[in-house]
This record gives sequence, structure tokens and C-alpha cells, in this order.
Amino acid sequence: MRRTEFAIIGAGPGGYVAALRASQLGAKVILIEKQWVGGVCLNVGCIPTKTLLRSAEVFALMGRAADFGIAAPAPSIDWQKVQVRKTQVVKQLVGGVTTLLEKAGVEVVSGEARFLTTDTLEVKSKAGLNSIVADHIIIATGSRAAQLPIAGIQSPRVIDSTAALALKKLPKSILIIGGGAIGLEWASMFADFGTNVILVELLPRLAPLLDRDLGEGLTFSLKQRGVKIMTNASVSRIDSGHHGCLVTINTSAEETKVKTEYVLSAVGRLPNVEGLNLKEAEVSYSRKGITVDNRLATTARGVFAIGDVAMEGPMLAHVASRQGAVAVENALGYNSYIDYTAVPTCIFSHPEVASVGMSDEEARLKGYDVKIGKFALGNNGKAIVNGEPEGFIKVVAEAKDNQILGLHIFGPHASDLVLEGTLSIRLDATLDEIESTIHPHPTLGEAILEAALSAGKKALHLPAS
Ligand code: NAD
Repeated sequence: MRRTEFAIIGAGPGGYVAALRASQLGAKVILIEKQWVGGVCLNVGCIPTKTLLRSAEVFALMGRAADFGIAAPAPSIDWQKVQVRKTQVVKQLVGGVTTLLEKAGVEVVSGEARFLTTDTLEVKSKAGLNSIVADHIIIATGSRAAQLPIAGIQSPRVIDSTAALALKKLPKSILIIGGGAIGLEWASMFADFGTNVILVELLPRLAPLLDRDLGEGLTFSLKQRGVKIMTNASVSRIDSGHHGCLVTINTSAEETKVKTEYVLSAVGRLPNVEGLNLKEAEVSYSRKGITVDNRLATTARGVFAIGDVAMEGPMLAHVASRQGAVAVENALGYNSYIDYTAVPTCIFSHPEVASVGMSDEEARLKGYDVKIGKFALGNNGKAIVNGEPEGFIKVVAEAKDNQILGLHIFGPHASDLVLEGTLSIRLDATLDEIESTIHPHPTLGEAILEAALSAGKKALHLPAS
């Protein structure tokens, strides 16, 4: 039996950040991880997918080298080397986190934890069974890919994003189920690599949770790159053979059958609540995750839950990290909170999508009188310099007092640009404050300034109407 101040279950971006913060505040921390330091994000999520997306981007850009006056032979893909780079990047970042934990004095225990009582965990590891008693326990066990109840879904030809990362060969064709973040990133990547892609989305538009214009921008862009998009559609059956599968797709109008080498399922994720013995610890939960209050405290005294396993906030790595710090601070008696009004969402497609705050539809539904400013990147100097003029910036603001309610970006570097909107919303900034802030020239950021100006019909780099 060992004693500690914090026992944290799961070393993903929620758990390891919580461990670092707790140690920074002087606490003794044991971090228990059954599989990999860095969790899904570093090992089979955000980082490896972004690494593959970068290779796809380089490949697509090299194919356009002549546009920039560069004569180069047609590029080709060495899939093995693409994979080697992905593995190296993951290794470097996992190594970095491991070092940070070591230097912070966090004890990482390799094993699987479950509750014996509210303050006691049993950890099963190679060394056998051990118990740990902790003043505070943080559950950060993450999530896993959800599976649809479709006939034939169990086939090895049907993969999730983890299996897609380990494909031995680049497929010639793939059908992706789900037009959310994961489906869109893979659709974009495969399209750039030259794979034939069919994307099937149940709802009427891609990225259905984000501002309508973002989904429309993505649809146009992906279609231009040869992706076949089917919305209001679902897959009802998958018949697999040695070389591929026959997929039955249903829309309200018809049933179609298409042949494809693989099916990639990306229809959301489920929280990892199983196997923790949560009932024993008096922690309330459901299939949707662990119940927490706005301090991230569960129903059991001294027990907190953060990240994808907690039923609070969107399932995003950066939300998990913030929740980790907040849970630790609250456990130690600080009064910490999270502002969910300014959570940026990014899709690392090509071009990227990034969004923070409310869409105009959402703002109207919430009773706001809104004004919208929009600026096409085709009018922005840096976008033209870069040879990447596709996309736009859209600002949503309150009509009367100009308060910024949302920023929605479709275009290169959207995930970096969205920070201006994130901080604006977080600080209750107004259009006037963006307008009077000097933006560097020539940058894509100037398009945010122009979008803000255009909300008041004051854009300077749009022809007067
Ligand atoms: P998601 O919820 O973002 O998207 C799932 C999509 O599948 C939705 O558009 C949904 O309408 C659709 N869908 C559901 N059932 C369907 C069906 N039967 N047929 C066709 N379409 C169906 O989920 P995801 O893309 O799997 O991502 C999982 C989680 O991971 C999300 O919370 C996401 O935000 C997060 N994530 C984030 C990033 C990022 O920040 N860049 C990247 C990957 C994943």
C-alpha cells in the first residue's frame, strides 16, 4: 500500500498536463498509464495524423512546383518513408513528454488502475497487484472510436483512424463514414495522396457542428480534388472480400452499391468508463461519460474527471489539458474554472478549418441580433503570394455593441489564425478593438482585420459597392 497526494489515471494530454501542474504546485504525483505516455493524441491521434497530412501537403505542393517557377520531376510517394517520419515524430514528442514528467518528479507507473474505494486504487502491472491511496484521484482515461451497428462492420477491411495510421500500403480507394473532424482530415489527406475517396455523412452537410459556410467551403474544395461526397446518407451493409468490399449506401432517394478497397469509420468517440470499478468509488457515470461539475469534480469526494471521459466540454486535446490544470488547482483549494465560450475547434484538412465561438445561426437561436463580416482570401496579398487564395474569414458579432461572438476560418493556417478570435472572445473584445489593432503586413491575419471591417461595411481591400 502506497500513499500519494495525486493519483492520475491516464497519461494523455489531460492526465500528463494534470501531473505536471500538480507537481509544479508541489504535490507528490503518481501517474498510471496502461499503454502509452502521451495517450491517443500523441501516439495514434493528433500528432501522427498531422504528420501524414504534412507529407500529403508537401506532395500536393510539389505537384504544383511549376506554378512557382520551379522545374522538378513529378513527385512520387514512398509510403514506407512517410510512415518512418510519422514514427520518428511521435517518438520525439513522446520522449519529450516523458522527460518533462521525469524532470518534474512525477512517478509514472506502467499498469492498469481500478478503484477499490473512493480513495484507493488497485494497479495491475507486470510486477503484480499494488494499491495506492491518494488524497486526490483524477480520471483521465480518454475515449475510443465508436462503432456503428452495421452488417459486416467487423471485417478487417473496415478500419478506424488508429488502423488507418498503420496501413502497410496507400489504398487506391477508400470510403469514409462520417464527415466530422476525423473523416474530413483523412478525406483530405487521401485525396492529396491520390486515393479515390467517397465520403458518406449522415447529416445534410459536412462538419455539421460548425458554421454552415465552413462545411460548404470544405465540400467545394474536396469535390474539386475528386472526393465524392454523399450527405444525408448512411451505410447499411458492408460485404468484404480479399481485395476490398462492396458497400451499400442509402439515401432517402436511392440505394447504391460501391466497391472500395477499405472503409474508414469515423463516427465519433466513446468515453473509456469501463473497467474502472466506478460504482465502487461512488462515481456517477453513463455511456456518455463521467458526471462532473464545473470544477471537474465527480460525485465522489476527492475524485475528478477530465478530458474525453468527462461529460463536460468538447472532446478535444486542448480542452483536456486545460481541464487537467483546473482539476488539480481545484483539488488543492484554488478556485479555477474553464471558459467554454472560447474553445477553438480545428480541422487539419487542406485547406484547414478553424472555428471559435458561435456560428451566426447559433447566435440568432440564442437571441442575439447579429452582424456578419466576411473576407475572401483571394483578396489578401499574402494568400496570393503563397499561391493559396482559397478560403475566407467570417466574423460574427453582436449588431448593437459590436461584441465578437464567433470567428470562422476556412483557409491555410486557419488553426493558427483562430487564436485572434479565441482571445477576442475570451476578453469580450469588439469589432472596433480588432479594427484599431495594427495587423502586420503582408499576412493572412490582415484578412481578419478586413473581415471585422466588412461587418461595418468598412472593408478597405474590397471594391466599394
Ligand atoms: P465527430 O463527432 O466530429 O464526427 C462524426 C461525424 O459522423 C458527424 O458528422 C456525424 O454526423 C457523422 N455520422 C454519425 N453517424 C453516422 C452514420 N451512421 N453514417 C454517416 N455519418 C455518420 O467525430 P469524429 O470525427 O469521429 O471525431 C471524434 C472526436 O475526436 C470528436 O470529438 C472530434 O472533435 C475529435 N477530433 C478532433 C480533431 C481535431 O481537433 N482536429 C481531430 C480528430 C478528432
